[in-house]
Amino acid sequence: MSRWQPLIITQRWLKGASRDILKTRSGAMIDHFIPSQGREEEIPLERYLDPMPGNVVSRYIEAYSHPGGMVLDPFCQTAVVIEEAVRKGRSALAAHFSPLNVLIARATLRLPPPEEIDAATTRLGDAPKLGASLREHITQLYATSCHRCRNPVVADHFAWDRERGLPVEKGYRCPHCEAQGDFPVDESDLETLAKIEERGVHYWYLLDRLASPGEEGRELAQSLLELYTPRNLYALVNLSMKVEALFSGSPILETLQLILLICLDTCRKLEGEGRARLRPPRSFRERNVWHAFEEAYLQLRALSSKSRLSGNVPPPTEAIVKRSIRGLASSLERESLELVITAPPPLDRPFWALSYLWTGWLLGKEETAVFKPFLRPRSLDWSWYQRGTAAAMRALTRLLRPEGRIVFILERGGLRQAERLVLAGAEVGLQLEGLFLQPCEPSTSVLLRKERASSYRLSLVKNRPPKKPPSAPRLASRMRRSALEACRKLLRERGDPLLFEWLHAAILKRWSEEDLLRQATLLEGVSLAQFAAEQMEETLKESLEEFIPLDERGEIREDEKADWNSSLWWLKEAPPPSPLGDRVEKVTCQLLQEVKGFQKVREEVYSLFPGLLTPDPGLVEEVLHSYGQGSPEAWRLRLPEAVREEMIALLLRLGEHLGFQAWAGARLPRHADVAWQEGETSYLFLIRQKVSLRDLCRWVEEGPKARHLILIPDERASLLRLRLESSPLIRKRLTESDWDFIKFGHLRSVAAQEEVDRHDLKKIVGLLPPIESAEAQLPLFP
Ligand SMILES: [Zn+2]
Repeated sequence: MSRWQPLIITQRWLKGASRDILKTRSGAMIDHFIPSQGREEEIPLERYLDPMPGNVVSRYIEAYSHPGGMVLDPFCQTAVVIEEAVRKGRSALAAHFSPLNVLIARATLRLPPPEEIDAATTRLGDAPKLGASLREHITQLYATSCHRCRNPVVADHFAWDRERGLPVEKGYRCPHCEAQGDFPVDESDLETLAKIEERGVHYWYLLDRLASPGEEGRELAQSLLELYTPRNLYALVNLSMKVEALFSGSPILETLQLILLICLDTCRKLEGEGRARLRPPRSFRERNVWHAFEEAYLQLRALSSKSRLSGNVPPPTEAIVKRSIRGLASSLERESLELVITAPPPLDRPFWALSYLWTGWLLGKEETAVFKPFLRPRSLDWSWYQRGTAAAMRALTRLLRPEGRIVFILERGGLRQAERLVLAGAEVGLQLEGLFLQPCEPSTSVLLRKERASSYRLSLVKNRPPKKPPSAPRLASRMRRSALEACRKLLRERGDPLLFEWLHAAILKRWSEEDLLRQATLLEGVSLAQFAAEQMEETLKESLEEFIPLDERGEIREDEKADWNSSLWWLKEAPPPSPLGDRVEKVTCQLLQEVKGFQKVREEVYSLFPGLLTPDPGLVEEVLHSYGQGSPEAWRLRLPEAVREEMIALLLRLGEHLGFQAWAGARLPRHADVAWQEGETSYLFLIRQKVSLRDLCRWVEEGPKARHLILIPDERASLLRLRLESSPLIRKRLTESDWDFIKFGHLRSVAAQEEVDRHDLKKIVGLLPPIESAEAQLPLFP
């Protein structure tokens, strides 16, 4: 077998790069969740991919490899590993078995200058086609007349009704009368459509490119072509044939193929921005192919004008290769890798089917062979996924140095995928070293959603073979005991009800720490996944003695649907909640006084909450905005307003004006600053710059029964809203005890009004008071 030499990106390329990079030593172990930093540009087909964020990859490379060491991304979606490895002076290789992924990663990294893209697309548009240019020929397919002024226009899209199999509306902007929007189609639109041959030469040409008659995949290919309207199929095939005819062998071919790929996606019968679906929606858009082509071209042009690798580093595109794990295993040295870091492919059959179609379409039939195993629908389940993943990990383990690591970054993963990765690792002798999790959205808002996404960071290490396990029943009972302990501990530490994802992660982590999963792999005649699932289920049943399921409002669920995944979990005999959020808020404010820079503080906060104590999504950022201000590089603590005396004076004046008896100071409960009273009605006001939810609980507990209103700085409102969002129990307690918030600014503006009544007060109460929501538009005195 010819030994294939991986391209090693040498440090010679780093001449001119910062010398500090070369000095970097392998850092300490990463023990916390590293949040991603927003990316500016969008990667083509991003909604199907789950690209790894650059800053996360960079941190892992720095911590888990040495300068000159070798890093591999075996399922590349972008060139991010190559880019970050080059910056840090490591060698790198990115590979994928799918030619489509390789095309996306390579073409994006190797974009030619904008002028060259301009020249190529102009040449393509000008190419002759049936007595016109290709541009005119395709554009004319969407020619129609303006519904209002009857002048000729070109539609940007047609809206179709799937059941009727016809377009019902056309969307355009009329250059003659400025009409813009969607208007009903007319007879002539249907006539234009009827002229296009549904099963013309182009159709058979494309079908044969996917599978010959009688060949496996022919039926699937045929059904996939149904994802395009006849008109769009015709236009797209003509476009792709012309690209092949004009640019075969040219260095710009890949760029044009990438533009086509974006068109193939945007011009199919689809709606919305979700992941792939193979059944067109009830009503869908038929996009003007030429418009879509121009849009895709502009997207890439914009990408190309931003240089992706700065400095003197040549883009090492040869380091992105089409290769399966088996191919990698036979071409790389054993124990040559320090770090494997990747976003493993999700179990996403629709996208694989689309990849098959688009690969055949753009790159030819030979390239589609790798997708054949994914196209047999019955076998694609999580067991299959685990088997495949285990085989891949086994091969990767051989390539890994003894102290090497495999890191999986899932930006929008699910707990099933994370679990199967951990189990597959256990099967091939890899031990889970780190498991970090952050749901993509705050807990209660996603509770009822069937499919939730969470970000996971998993790192696995090689380990000695596990001890011989005790008998299956003893191992099972040990696993259940450990699982229960792990859940209990996490609930206490986080101090708030939790989504099942958290408990699930705590259990997996504990089982790995105690090496129980690897011991379970030694049990004879037992499937690891099934054994683990049984113990998980048993644990959860037993735990109902101790834990309670809550709904999104913090009410105890007693309905039958109270399953683990759609509930929040809390301890039955809990100490008063001491939310993790309070600690995050406190620490962030402290750091804000010492550390400069928004991202720096953010990262430092995360590093102080290790393991499964990752702060809720958006929380750190919200605290930073609430308490800080400045430019991203010089983010500073905002000084609190000196307002206590002013607010007290305002409240006393306003209270008397509204006919209350109002007083401050003595005779008030310890937490309150001002009181209003009239007969049975009484109000207590608290003026606070800062509210910890734990204090809030205490005040509610101790305070007298009265309407309580807490005055807070305006910039604190959205932080408090987020905090209460993930603390349903505290939220419930506030509502039941008649506590609420008022912003300083709103109180000032009400107090400044000449005419004020009690209704005006109602309009400013709350973190999102009626005055800020749509209700403010209603008449003031209904
Ligand atoms: Zn018009």
